[in-house]
Amino acid sequence: MVLDTTRVRQRLEAERARLLAEIEAVEIEPPEPMTYGSQAAAASQVFDQNRARALRERAERELAQVDAALARLEAGTYGLCRACGRPIDPERLEALPWALYDLECQRKVR
Ligand SMILES: [Zn+2]
Repeated sequence: MVLDTTRVRQRLEAERARLLAEIEAVEIEPPEPMTYGSQAAAASQVFDQNRARALRERAERELAQVDAALARLEAGTYGLCRACGRPIDPERLEALPWALYDLECQRKVR
């Protein structure tokens, strides 16, 4: 299969825009203990903050992967496993255009 880099780039850039919007949308507000009406409200706010933080961290991790994939597209090393250098299965790239490792190496880096 010949890699259609134009299409890959479009997918990566679309994903990048989506993640940036997601990160933007997640508001992590500093805790304001005095505004808590009750213990339950306090607990709920802490829960929301933790959840927001987790969402944001996940989006930031994904964004880093997308950026790395775009850089590799520029460098001409896109689609090659970052660990072993073998080509990544095209089906895997189709499903996950920002994959940096083939399946075998992905298992080791996780
Ligand atoms: Zn590999």
